[in-house]
Amino acid sequence: MAVLLDNYKKIQEEIGEDVVLVAVSKTKPKEDIQSFYDDGHRVFGENKAQELKEKHEELPKDIKWHMIGHLQRNKVKYIAPFVDLIHSVDSKRLAKEINKQGRKNERTINCLLQVHIAEEESKFGFDEDEILEIIKSGEFDEYNNIKIVGLMGMATFTEDTDQIRKEFKSLKGIFDRISSLESDANIEMKYLSMGMSNDFNIAIEEGSNMIRVGSKIFGERNT
Ligand SMILES: *Cc1c(COP(=O)(O)O)cnc(C)c1O
Repeated sequence: MAVLLDNYKKIQEEIGEDVVLVAVSKTKPKEDIQSFYDDGHRVFGENKAQELKEKHEELPKDIKWHMIGHLQRNKVKYIAPFVDLIHSVDSKRLAKEINKQGRKNERTINCLLQVHIAEEESKFGFDEDEILEIIKSGEFDEYNNIKIVGLMGMATFTEDTDQIRKEFKSLKGIFDRISSLESDANIEMKYLSMGMSNDFNIAIEEGSNMIRVGSKIFGERNT
């Protein structure tokens, strides 16, 4: 199936330059990614480490690859040499492993802390208190090979837009409170990654500056 280039252009126009559009290419073939690349797009997101590694190897090297899905510690090594941003840091042990792999590769890996905002229990992430504790304790201070550049969250999978808005609002509140704290040099709140195909408009209204859009521009995924 052809990619939905018109949708992509419309969304880009709507969101302007202040919001980063991460084109979520998971399960899609490299030809589809190449179509957006040829149109000038460079930021793509995947949710599986191995798939991300393979696509990185096969596609142009100036693509900025974002890891957006749950990341197991033993798979960090596949993406550490090149990944541009990891959205899904959901435990201290994972942060520690990313730091270790960053050091091995002599680079600093940009990360977002994933925050649990949805009602569902299955969604990964920290809660606000845990993040405040990390910052206050300074336990990431010695992690010189990661940089925390913001937060990521996913709303509940529901058609209740009030519920979705409430959850995004709460994440923006957390983002603002953390931004106002004095923290170590390797923590800097720049990006708030929230919003997907069906809810990115609400997310932007509530303060998102990074959206992750898959099906709306690549077409539905076969699951
Ligand atoms: C798949 C995925 C998306 C994109 O979902 P769409 O509804 O297809 O836009 C965004 N974020 C994460 C974490 C995902 O896994």
